[in-house]
Amino acid sequence: MTGKRLSAILTLIALFSVHAPLRAYTVQYRDSSGVIARRWLTQPIIIAFSTSLGSPPANIKTGTDVIGAARRALRRWSSVSNVQFFETSSSVQAISPPNAGDRINLITVSADNASAFDSQDNPGRTRVFSDSGAITEADIALNPNVLFSTDGSPGTYDLESTFTHEVGHLLGLEHSAILGATMQPRQAMNGLYNLPAFTQRTLSEDDIAGARALYGSRAGTGSLFGRLVANSIGGQSQPIFGAHVFAEDALTGRVIAGGITLPSGDYRIDALPRGSYHVIGQSLDGPVEADEIATAHGSYAGLVDTTPLFRTHVAMRSASQLIPVFADKATSLGFFVSPNLAPALTPRLIGMNGELSTVALPLKPGKKFTVYVAGEGIDEVPPGGISSTSPFISIDPDSVSEAEFDTPYPAISFEITVARNTPAGEYSILLQSSDGEIVYLVGALTIDDE
Ligand SMILES: [Zn+2]
Repeated sequence: MTGKRLSAILTLIALFSVHAPLRAYTVQYRDSSGVIARRWLTQPIIIAFSTSLGSPPANIKTGTDVIGAARRALRRWSSVSNVQFFETSSSVQAISPPNAGDRINLITVSADNASAFDSQDNPGRTRVFSDSGAITEADIALNPNVLFSTDGSPGTYDLESTFTHEVGHLLGLEHSAILGATMQPRQAMNGLYNLPAFTQRTLSEDDIAGARALYGSRAGTGSLFGRLVANSIGGQSQPIFGAHVFAEDALTGRVIAGGITLPSGDYRIDALPRGSYHVIGQSLDGPVEADEIATAHGSYAGLVDTTPLFRTHVAMRSASQLIPVFADKATSLGFFVSPNLAPALTPRLIGMNGELSTVALPLKPGKKFTVYVAGEGIDEVPPGGISSTSPFISIDPDSVSEAEFDTPYPAISFEITVARNTPAGEYSILLQSSDGEIVYLVGALTIDDE
């Protein structure tokens, strides 16, 4: 095409290392018949950098290396999965309108894209065009009405984090309900928790497994699949739509991957490293809500609430909570939950450094942190009912106290100690009320590789 010229080649070949640290994701890409929907069938994926990246508008902090941030975001994904990108440039500034693709996969930061953002606060968006499940074009635009930087300036979004998230959409991934995942639905602004918001630059286990499930390699990994059903007293069972099913490494407590059940109640989690897992089913009722999962008209369209709502349930097999996953094998794990019992304990916000939000808390090994949780029923949790499922993370029951925040929910604070040898990854906080109800804040604690 005229106006385009080859300018550089990104890292083309994705390399897989067996001992590379693996992390956590959610697969939201299957259609109702179980077929993998929406992925690129041809490689390399040719990405056209709009000339706006070289002369960005004023909402991007002066001096920011926009092209470098876009390249690093692409490389995050191509270095962990069998994805190849080929970089070109284009004088086109605006993303294609719906139903009028131009077959140019554009990344643009131009102010010409203001009309693509009806809600003012979304930092980026990706418009994906597909044909029978094959992605034919995907365009990424940044919101010209919000501020960006790459140096952590408070009140701006981290440009590289936004690009990394949007490239996940470009590859066909939807949103994850694991708070520490790059593909979770909301991006933190720099300054939240009084920290730079860089953690979404790096892919979580969940994101990596998602990319590998779509593009390979699955060698040496296994799958879990099954149906989540509410079992009623009368013998009638009802499939649960929109439940979060996630797997936690039984040894370290790291959240490795999750999925959302289809209207049939079916879930599937692919690309799990072999090992022993705890597998948990939970209603999506905060911090990530069910209606935030679907980004397109796929199999989760129409998902508003987990239906029916149910209380968090840990899957059992042969009277044990340890679920084995074998390499190159799919393990069936269906499970039943109690019906007609909506959660009474619903944590909705987490926080640190004086601030509450819904974004994972970036913690560091060898340090102690004061953490907050707010939501319905939180004040009914006894001090001993707050715990971590990781041997590396401990919570001091003597530190639990009520916290004052301007929210409609009760809030508590407590101290978390992260052991010096804690592996990088996403970890959960487990709450248990005095009547035995449990709930996970899934992946609420994130520890990055330095
Ligand atoms: Zn998104």
